[in-house]
Amino acid sequence: MSAGLLNISEIFHSIQGESSFAGWPCAFIRLAGCGHGCIGCDTAYAESNPKLIDTEEIIRQAIGFHAPCIEVTGGEPLLQPAVYPLMKRLCDLGHTVLLETGGFLSVAEVDQRVHKIIDLKPPSSGVSLKNNYENICIAQESLPPYRNTFEYKIVIAEKNDYEWAKSLLLKSRLTEYFTVMMGVAFGELEPVELAEWILSDRLKVRMQLQLHKYIWPPDMRGV
Ligand code: SF4
Repeated sequence: MSAGLLNISEIFHSIQGESSFAGWPCAFIRLAGCGHGCIGCDTAYAESNPKLIDTEEIIRQAIGFHAPCIEVTGGEPLLQPAVYPLMKRLCDLGHTVLLETGGFLSVAEVDQRVHKIIDLKPPSSGVSLKNNYENICIAQESLPPYRNTFEYKIVIAEKNDYEWAKSLLLKSRLTEYFTVMMGVAFGELEPVELAEWILSDRLKVRMQLQLHKYIWPPDMRGV
């Protein structure tokens, strides 16, 4: 039985670009709408021209790519209640499901089998005060084997972002228990600068580049 309708921006097949799953072919389900207004948002187009699609049809299209993983992303996917049964259903069908969320909303109700990639927004985003730190507690209280389904992503645009991130990681001890991916905002900061800061501070983060932006033109949709 259908779990409902969702406002969809696009469903496409690409290479997963920014998480510990980077490099894998992946089916993406991009939900429309966000409204957080991050400075430098690279998916602002997800705010407009949504298509209302039934969950079963979304699943049919995503599965049709025969990719090793399926990512639910946005916009902000957690804004739409029908996303929760969608993710559960994909898990029940045996798929590896990733969720990429802006980190403003709680992930408490997300099926625990879903791999949660949670943004921590730094000061240059203009919205760092909206980070929902409850998500760190939820991860810390999770039990094996689901503890491994949480990871964090910080996109650094300038040195101030890096210092903010370093301080947060020291206070929260996040890197002791979870993977923290740290990357540069494309075109804002040279990767070599971030690499040198990380090495100099002996920070236990995993550096990443937004792979899809190196493979295809950085402003291209559907990749
Ligand atoms: S949370 Fe993501 S989609 Fe929403 S405004 Fe920020 S960067 Fe854009």
